[in-house]
Amino acid sequence: MKNNKRVTAKKSPAKKAPPVKAKPAPAKKPAAPKKAAPPAKKPAVAAKKPIVPTKKVAPAAKKPPVVVKKVAPPVKIEAAPVKKSAVKASGGKGVPITVWENDPESGLKLAKSSAPTLALGPLPLQILGTAPKAALYNPGTPNFRYWNAADALRRARDIWKPHLPEGIQWQSGNALDVQIDGGEDLNAYYDRKTLSFLHGTVKGKTLHTADSPNIIAHELGHAVLDVLRPDLWDAALDEVAAFHESFGDITAILTALQQESVCEVVLKETGGMLYQNSALSRIAEQFGKAVHSLNPNSAPADCLRNAVNSFFYREPMHLPPMAPHSSLSSEPHSYSRLFTAGFFEGVSGMLKIQSNKPKVEDLMQVGRDATAILCKAVRSAALSAAFYSEVAAQVIWADGALFEGKYDGALRSAFVRRGILSLEAVRSLRAEASRIVNAGKPNAGGDEMPRGRDMMMRASAYGLGEGALVVRTASFSRRGMIASAALDAGSTPVPGVEQATQSFLETLFRRGRVDFSQCKPGLSSVPHSHIKRKTHYLVEQNGQFHLHRRCFDDGYEDGM
Ligand SMILES: [Zn+2]
Repeated sequence: MKNNKRVTAKKSPAKKAPPVKAKPAPAKKPAAPKKAAPPAKKPAVAAKKPIVPTKKVAPAAKKPPVVVKKVAPPVKIEAAPVKKSAVKASGGKGVPITVWENDPESGLKLAKSSAPTLALGPLPLQILGTAPKAALYNPGTPNFRYWNAADALRRARDIWKPHLPEGIQWQSGNALDVQIDGGEDLNAYYDRKTLSFLHGTVKGKTLHTADSPNIIAHELGHAVLDVLRPDLWDAALDEVAAFHESFGDITAILTALQQESVCEVVLKETGGMLYQNSALSRIAEQFGKAVHSLNPNSAPADCLRNAVNSFFYREPMHLPPMAPHSSLSSEPHSYSRLFTAGFFEGVSGMLKIQSNKPKVEDLMQVGRDATAILCKAVRSAALSAAFYSEVAAQVIWADGALFEGKYDGALRSAFVRRGILSLEAVRSLRAEASRIVNAGKPNAGGDEMPRGRDMMMRASAYGLGEGALVVRTASFSRRGMIASAALDAGSTPVPGVEQATQSFLETLFRRGRVDFSQCKPGLSSVPHSHIKRKTHYLVEQNGQFHLHRRCFDDGYEDGM
């Protein structure tokens, strides 16, 4: 299916942006999104037996010290409101808390964990508001939500920790603030200053995004990728924005794989053939079901996104900006499912290499190896217009460097089957690796890696006034033969960076995700004022319009 307008635009000289070197825009901090009231409302689902006395959750004072030791006095576990039989035992030490180990509606029982200390070590986190006493709370209560979220944050951060470069810091340089209940909206987002989780009411039932470890891990994944690769933040490219979303979902999957209980259930459910619809492949069941009930085209009936799907590579510029969940569109969350599926199929193949009859420890080990591979690949990938094939190639090279190619066959197969790498691209991987090592640029990683450039586009092409629209994009299309597959045969044609950037902008402006409030009124002929969730904003400087990212959000746009 071709987007005729897009193809026409490609051929039209009028739409072509002049390849002018733009002056780099002075870095301007993103405007803070509106923050809703602190979590002062009653819990949506009242606890049946609120025996454990708790302080009221205070309004979210800015940066209160979260020192778990001080606020967690000895707790009488037998007085807690959760039935012991309903809670799976945990080997953890410290003050016990009740948590979901996977999404609340993934089918797993409540489990016990230990109250974490988030503010210590690399990449510290700080939950806004006063910490309730650590104890065993009932799901649906604010106190449960607090500790459940703290546990999910710790677990998601822990999977990346061993692979992060020394001295790494969040974008702010301080602890990353977390809003457990940032107000009313069916949304969650990361905006470089906070991870924010909100709540919404769907068909009379209130849903908190902070209740789902999947959603928490997804948002934390955005933050981790942002510190590993800050250059991806503003990059106006479909494959880059979608990869950010995919990295979030993969973080949720890899985090779940470090839970014995999840591995047990998944092995039982799939018999070790991991690439099946399961509690592992389904991302954010609870949220997805709610979204589905509002608009069945927005999500499947049983989850928000599924890592098991049948999508094959299409250049995003040839996809529509919006489509039902059963089809691929160039919208980042929709398009992310392609990379997630390719990687997940690779992990499934890795498990077969690990063991013919995999046990829990095999699955957990493969999860750790996949995490190491992806982290190395992400750090090395050059910012290119064909970013999916670039990361896929780096995944295969990272396996070579870390595990001497132990998983090579599985990873090559998965990426080729998805068309993320073409057959000829896979064939050229070895030669390309030596070229990079020996002399070639772009470099395979490190500080030498191209970090993108500014590009000037014609603002009027996007419904704005006359003038230049300055956006951040890739320095080059792709490296050598590393390419995705064409639908018919061979590799895709080399995408022009301008063309790929135009495709991203078309999707963004058409969907109304740009905030014009910092520019003069009437700038845009279609401001989409009723769409409140804006991921980007425009600022006017010296007669030029500069586009910046404000946040990565959950992408759900219906019911606005
Ligand atoms: Zn996201």
